[in-house]
Amino acid sequence: MNMNFYMPTKVFMGEDIVSKKASEIAALGTKALIVTGRHSAKANGSLQDICKVLEDKQMKYLVYDQVMSNPTIDCVYEGAELAKREGADFVISIGGGSPMDAGKAIALLAAGEVRREDLFSGNYPHQPLPMVHIPTTAGTGSEVTQYAILTNDAAKTKTSIASSTLFPTIALLDPKYMMGLSKRTTIHTAVDAFSHAAEGMLSVRSNVMSDALALESIKILSSCYSSLANGTLSLEERGKLLYASMLAGVVIAHTGTTAVHSMGYSLTYFKDVDHGRANGLLLGSFFESVQRERPELIERILGAMNLTSLKEFNQKMEELLGEPEQITKAELEEYTAIAMKAKNIVNSKVILSEEEIKEVYQKSLRIMY
Ligand code: FE
Repeated sequence: MNMNFYMPTKVFMGEDIVSKKASEIAALGTKALIVTGRHSAKANGSLQDICKVLEDKQMKYLVYDQVMSNPTIDCVYEGAELAKREGADFVISIGGGSPMDAGKAIALLAAGEVRREDLFSGNYPHQPLPMVHIPTTAGTGSEVTQYAILTNDAAKTKTSIASSTLFPTIALLDPKYMMGLSKRTTIHTAVDAFSHAAEGMLSVRSNVMSDALALESIKILSSCYSSLANGTLSLEERGKLLYASMLAGVVIAHTGTTAVHSMGYSLTYFKDVDHGRANGLLLGSFFESVQRERPELIERILGAMNLTSLKEFNQKMEELLGEPEQITKAELEEYTAIAMKAKNIVNSKVILSEEEIKEVYQKSLRIMY
């Protein structure tokens, strides 16, 4: 048996976990830069909780709340400049994937010089500042991965920075911050988590342990399906989604993602489609292409969901996601060309040809001729 497993992040989950882990947080430094978006951390109480912990411990902090969705390179350099200027020695990231990913890049750039042209290299001469991650959506799994995904205008897509130094030091998981999330965001993020688990199983880098975590994640996510579709999630179910998305994060930390993520990035970059939604729209047709060559792989994923056919799977996804977006024929050509250049395309056990990628887009979206 071949197996490797590395997950250095300390993960704590539970009720009021932020205040319960005050000493762990305080041990990381003397002055915190809190990285977050403009609104959600204030609205869901997470920012208040962390500020109270820092004040009780008589620690200094400042807040950088300028992270937009799909953060840009400018944004992370700006956050890092602020951290340097103010002498912050650790970073606390609160939010969904965007603030959590930006926080990793800021922690890296605040700890030493990285030229813009070297930002995506994955090789850095120094360690990032210590990091606390507090997810306020259940989907990205960024709190337990070594990836920071940024908008890369030069490549007209989203590009991932990957470095084993970018695992957060501590992840604090409390589902109470998710109680006010809209039905739409809850669905899109849950579908992203599902996509991580499923793509992880279809990755050439999967192993027995990542598969075990992926199957568990898929089972838990499926058990929440009805409540997701109805928009009636209890705190307990929010906790299940958060736990499952963390598991799926550990999966992709080992396996990476595959064609679905690579293809979805164009829908987000050009059409502003939510990341999880973009993946969800493409999954069924991607599974179909994989099934032609390796039916047992898809059977295993469907089995964990208690489904027997891809038709059933597609119906469920349609119920969650509704009508797909439209793209033009020219856009179809452009997105296919961009996806072909993405490094994760070859990360799949079944590698899709250019024609097959185009076919997945065609089947998943409405094409305007
Ligand atoms: Fe994702």
